[in-house]
Amino acid sequence: MNSREKRDQANAGCAGVRLTVQYNFEPEVLIRKFIVLLFLFLWCPFAFAGELSVTFFDVGQGDAMLITTPSGKQILLDGGAPPSVLESGESVFSREVLSLLQAQSITHLDGVIISHGHPDHIKGVMTVLKTIPVARVYFPDCGGAAGEYGRCMDSIKQRHIEYTITHAGTSIDIDPAVRVEVFAPPHNFCFDDANNNSMIVRIAYRAVSFLFTGDANTEEQDWCAEKYGVRLRSTILKIPHHGSYNAVNGTFIRAVNPAVGVISCGENPYGHPHEKTLHFYGKEKTALYRTDLRGTIRISTDGSAYAVTTEK
Ligand SMILES: [Zn+2]
Ligand SMILES: [Zn+2]
Repeated sequence: MNSREKRDQANAGCAGVRLTVQYNFEPEVLIRKFIVLLFLFLWCPFAFAGELSVTFFDVGQGDAMLITTPSGKQILLDGGAPPSVLESGESVFSREVLSLLQAQSITHLDGVIISHGHPDHIKGVMTVLKTIPVARVYFPDCGGAAGEYGRCMDSIKQRHIEYTITHAGTSIDIDPAVRVEVFAPPHNFCFDDANNNSMIVRIAYRAVSFLFTGDANTEEQDWCAEKYGVRLRSTILKIPHHGSYNAVNGTFIRAVNPAVGVISCGENPYGHPHEKTLHFYGKEKTALYRTDLRGTIRISTDGSAYAVTTEK
């Protein structure tokens, strides 16, 4: 017998199956093993998946997040705004998301999710769409045809980029290892305030989940909490509306019950984040991270544990 055999045991990592691995280099045996591994890969892709990470870029006052899925799909969620100047003439700190993506060698995006049409979320997206190939854009209905939102929609259509209009109940299939659910805005009506038509989207990887909330204020949070209750439960919450005073809805936030909250904000004339918001999350014992204080924040997970790293 010209083959060498030794026995080993390993956990297959899927449903607690204990797998016996046998090293035998005869071609027929190798082919059989390849077929078994292929079957395991197809049957249980999670066993071979990598990490899910979310980078909350410090773009100043605005939101811009890069989601990297376990199979390496890259999704931009909102794009912040380019550098701006206050009415007083004072220039405001901000960083352009396009250059932040390019610094990470991102040359293609599998998806762009737009939470809603306000400039501090959408302006940077428009620059990205002009420069980086994007496979598909996801945006909520209720945005209207005017202003930045309308210009962005025109740009998507002119460039023949595939798009999906989302609402409560839409699921986004981008990587079989993660579950992406859209909880809001509602399907049949729009709120008066554009912030309350923000896309609320949950991304779950095994036991760790992220809830992204755009600028949802209390009315949308109320609607969402009533409809979904504990289905909103998530490990990490992108704190709604930059920590605004009118974005703290106890029912909603207690349904989410986050261990970690991230506030994306910079210099601003609106008083974000509000003292009341910080006090509320402090009482709830949510660990808070702010991009204005910590710079870019990255949270990565293997689906059971997570790690937070910050720029400063
Ligand atoms: Zn905003
Ligand atoms: Zn807004």
